[in-house]
Amino acid sequence: MTVCGSMFLLACGNETATATSNIDSTANAVTQDSVISYDISLVDNKKDPTCGMPVTAGISDTAHYDNKVLGFCAAGCKEEFLKNPKANIAAAEMK
Ligand SMILES: [Zn+2]
Repeated sequence: MTVCGSMFLLACGNETATATSNIDSTANAVTQDSVISYDISLVDNKKDPTCGMPVTAGISDTAHYDNKVLGFCAAGCKEEFLKNPKANIAAAEMK
């Protein structure tokens, strides 16, 4: 008697699940609260009403007038404006 045995080992192909995980780590919180500066978006005027300088050049002081926030290039300009705000408000060129 002859026994012929043949065994086939079928190796299953390994199904590798490729899981791509993108971890976004974009947490760039830069805060600068040591430097005091006025942002031009905070003020309602375009120009320093006293000297006519645009507020985009820099604001050193602000004043509240008629529910508006006015930016001034210097404290002296603010003081000058507050002496007679009604006469100078037009020069501020409100936004
Ligand atoms: Zn000024």
